[in-house]
Amino acid sequence: MTEFIQLMAQYPLLFASISFFFATVIGSFLNVVIHRLPVMMKREWQLECNQYLDEYHKATVTGIKDKLAQPIDDYPEKYNLIVPGSSCPKCKTSIKPWHNLPILGWLILGGKCIHCKTHISARYPIIEALTGMMVAYLAYHFGPSWQFAFGTILTFGLIALTGIDLDEMLLPDQITLPLLWIGILINLNGTFVSITDAVIGATAGYMSLWSVFWGFKLLTGKEGMGYGDFKLLAMFGAWLGWQQLPLIILLSSIVGATVGLILIVTNKTSSEHPIPFGPYLSFAGWISLVSGPQLTLLYMSYVTS
Ligand SMILES: [Zn+2]
Repeated sequence: MTEFIQLMAQYPLLFASISFFFATVIGSFLNVVIHRLPVMMKREWQLECNQYLDEYHKATVTGIKDKLAQPIDDYPEKYNLIVPGSSCPKCKTSIKPWHNLPILGWLILGGKCIHCKTHISARYPIIEALTGMMVAYLAYHFGPSWQFAFGTILTFGLIALTGIDLDEMLLPDQITLPLLWIGILINLNGTFVSITDAVIGATAGYMSLWSVFWGFKLLTGKEGMGYGDFKLLAMFGAWLGWQQLPLIILLSSIVGATVGLILIVTNKTSSEHPIPFGPYLSFAGWISLVSGPQLTLLYMSYVTS
C-alpha cells in the first residue's frame, strides 16, 4: 500500500487518470442519487402527511376519513438508491451493465434507449465526466493524501447537491448534515484547518446566511434563500475554516448574480422566479477547497492596497 502511494506520488498524471476512471463510476451513481433521493423524500413527506391527516380525521370527523386521507401503504413497491435497477422511463427495458458504463455507455447507445429509441438526457454522461474531471484535478492538486481522499467525498456530495437543487430547489439534510459532521471530524487533527477554525467556521457559516435571510425578509417580506443554503455554508465553514467564508460568499454572489442576469436578459427566467443558490455556493466552495488560501491572499492584497 505504501509502495502504491509512493508510486502515485511520483506520477501525478497517472494518479489523476486512475482517479478519473474511478470517479466516473461514482458519477454514474450520483446520477441515481440526484434522480431518486428527491422522489424518496417526497414519498416520505406524503406518508407523514397521510399519517397525520389520518389521525386528525379519526379524532375529529370519523366516518369520512376514507375519502380525505389516502391509505398509509401508498407505495408498496421497494424504491431506494439501489432497488429497482435502472430502466428506460418509457418502455421499462432494464439497462444492461455494459450500457451502464460511465460516459461510454451513453455514447455506445447514441443517447437513445436500445429498445424504444427514447432520447436519454446528455446530463448523465456530463455529470459522469464532470465528476471524473473534478476528482482528477484533486488528485493532481493534492497528490495521494488525506486531503485528496476527503476532498473527493466532498466533491461527490457537492455534485449531488447541485443536481438536486437545480431540479427541485432542495438541499437535502441527508447530504448536507453528514458532510458537516465529517468536516468537523476530519479537522480534529487538522486535515484542512485547525479544529477551532472549523467549529467557528460552521457556526459563522450558518449564522451569516441566517442573518441575511431574516434581514432580507424583514425588509422586503420575501424569502431570498432557504435553510439548506445556511447548512451548506456551515458545512464549508467546518471543512475549510471561517477564513474562507468571505471568499465563498463573494464568489457565489458574483457568479450567481452574473448567471441570473444572463438568464433574465435572455428571457430564460424572470426576476420573480426564484433561482437556487446552492449550485453557486457549491461552486464557490469547491474553488475555495482547491485554491482558497491563494485567492484570499489575492483579494486581501486588493482590499488593503
Ligand atoms: Zn425504452
